[in-house]
Amino acid sequence: MNQFEKIQQLTGNLPPFFPTEKVQLQNAFNRVLQEDVIADLNMPPFNKSAMDGYACRLEDIANELEVLEVINAGKIASVKIGKNQCVKIMTGAAVPPECDCVFMVEDAEELHGNKVRCTNLNTMKNICYLGEDYKKGDILLKKGALINVPQMAVLAGAGYAEVWVSKRPKVTVIATGSELVSPSETPKPGQIRNSNSSQVVTQLRKMNLEVVAELTLVDDYELLTKSFKKALESSDFVVFTGGASVGDFDFIPEILKEQGFKIYWDHTGIKPGNPMTFSEKDGKFVFGLSGNPVSSFVQFELIAKPVICKLLGSNYTPLRVKTRMNFTYQRKNANRLAIIPVVIDSAGAISEIPFHGSAHINALAFANALLEVPLGDSTIQNNEFAYVRPL
Ligand code: AMP
Ligand code: MG
Repeated sequence: MNQFEKIQQLTGNLPPFFPTEKVQLQNAFNRVLQEDVIADLNMPPFNKSAMDGYACRLEDIANELEVLEVINAGKIASVKIGKNQCVKIMTGAAVPPECDCVFMVEDAEELHGNKVRCTNLNTMKNICYLGEDYKKGDILLKKGALINVPQMAVLAGAGYAEVWVSKRPKVTVIATGSELVSPSETPKPGQIRNSNSSQVVTQLRKMNLEVVAELTLVDDYELLTKSFKKALESSDFVVFTGGASVGDFDFIPEILKEQGFKIYWDHTGIKPGNPMTFSEKDGKFVFGLSGNPVSSFVQFELIAKPVICKLLGSNYTPLRVKTRMNFTYQRKNANRLAIIPVVIDSAGAISEIPFHGSAHINALAFANALLEVPLGDSTIQNNEFAYVRPL
């Protein structure tokens, strides 16, 4: 088993950790559902007209029909519909029990004397039948689902005005590096703007975690230790970027060890982004991501995100699709899983974009997917199939 597979296995074995809470439906978007959602009704709850039209008996469709009344959505018929009779009916209204067909207004010719005729004898029935979408007692959403836009509608339709979800973890993001200056500054020689904080904070917010603090710190062991301890008081997660490697000023792994954290892993087997730690102590979790922006992006996307999801009790699995290469990919050293920013074009093929490696963050701004080049593969030929992860 290679290192990335080991990480995936360790991640898969993490138990749900965060407590649950009940929230109002309007606050449930982008939270992890913590109960099965059960239908309390059939859907639709009655035979429902799918069209604005006329409801009648199909056997009478070729005849002139007497129009008895008009039924709006929300109303039910007040009369019985007999032979050669019909009601005018609106989309969403209950189809009277005697009727088995609704022909559309567009297929109707109104005649004198309150009569109507269907001009399309091949009309569809245009009825949504009771319970055809779901039945009372059906499980509509499973515990562990991420509440996205359609899930919001499903919850509302099933009467979940309040819903059990995972609590939002609190996170402190600490960018480390004596070379870092803020985005508002012009870097002096040897300095670089801190782009990781903006990136990682957004990745966390996209997952609906609460970022409680954002620090940029120089590579100073004492300062980092002090700030780390303080961050642990207010946060469930601390995410470091930079300082995760083996340089003289890469203090994060050392600090974690000194503070008694259990290190689950200290490298990923991925290129870019090999040095990365995940560690835990007393229910506090720490990611030590690489300093290079593409590395930290990839580490978050492929590793930190699934870990956070698992701890939140989410059943998230990343979308990976196998599709055709539109270029030949080659590399010299195939000792790691390579992750390459690419574009999936409108034909579904994988196209190349300029990419120079772990610092080339603006390449990602043009990518819509990450290509996976498996460990051991030095070439993927044009027209071969490969896995991509849409972004
Ligand atoms: P490190 O992982 O600390 O060795 O950093 C690796 C590379 O990433 C160095 O070139 C750093 O200057 C750069 N880097 C580190 N942190 C950041 C950051 N927050 N934003 C942009 N680049 C960074
Ligand atoms: Mg550094």
